Amino acid sequence: MQVIILGSGSPLPDPHRAGPSTLVRTSVGDFVFDCGRGVLMRAAAAGSGAGAFRAVLLTHLHSDHITDLNDIYTSRWVTSFQSNPLPVYGPPGTAALLEAIGTMLEPDIAYRLAHHDDLRWPPSAVVTEVTEGVIFHEGAVRITAGPTDHAPVRPTVGYRIDDGAQSVVIAGDTVPCAGLNELAGTAGVLVHTVVRRDLIEPIGLPRLTDVLDYHSSVADAAQTAARNDVRTLILTHLVPTPAPGSEQEWLDQATAHFSGEVMVASDLLSVDVPA
Ligand SMILES: [Zn+2]
Ligand SMILES: [Zn+2]
Repeated sequence: MQVIILGSGSPLPDPHRAGPSTLVRTSVGDFVFDCGRGVLMRAAAAGSGAGAFRAVLLTHLHSDHITDLNDIYTSRWVTSFQSNPLPVYGPPGTAALLEAIGTMLEPDIAYRLAHHDDLRWPPSAVVTEVTEGVIFHEGAVRITAGPTDHAPVRPTVGYRIDDGAQSVVIAGDTVPCAGLNELAGTAGVLVHTVVRRDLIEPIGLPRLTDVLDYHSSVADAAQTAARNDVRTLILTHLVPTPAPGSEQEWLDQATAHFSGEVMVASDLLSVDVPA
């Protein structure tokens, strides 16, 4: 199993970092977790694409995590030569989101259906709203959802993907919590979104300091990794964007609390999951 970071960026546009998204390549295909800005550009670079995704899984409905879902929905439709509904998993509210995306795309759908004789079906999704428990099981792959804590955003979920003896956990945006601990136990790779409290706090801008109370700091994420005997911690959704050459600071803040392997994500970072 492989983890490929499609987007490592913060909600703010960045020339080098796409919005939050992680591709997990399993023995039964590619699964995409969250779909921030630029997800399909990065998926193309990773040799994947909307038509091939086994499923899109959302951790929560914040705009930076879902902004390109409409791109996946449309691109899958126009590049498939038979009806190819998009499986989407996400917290309650996900079905209404897909309905709304369908409404937003009504003019486009009508143009293309009228223009292409061989396109005789509209785009569609198969939505499964999830809170906890096993949500997918095929071959050696099992995906489990569990509650996270990103309050006042509710509900939010994290995911654990087991493929035989290999495991990956996608934390999403969350503070340390029991639900994440339950998912993360002895995981091979933990992909965790983080903010730098020490850089954000001194700026003193309320719109920025607000983000601190519902995200994990680098130390928080490292402590979650240590508490749960994780092998490799990947820091992503980096807020604020690391200044060039400052990656070591992020690593140092994590390794002060966690003795396993730590990586600071960049777009298209690819990691083979240890067995
Ligand atoms: Zn969020
Ligand atoms: Zn976010």
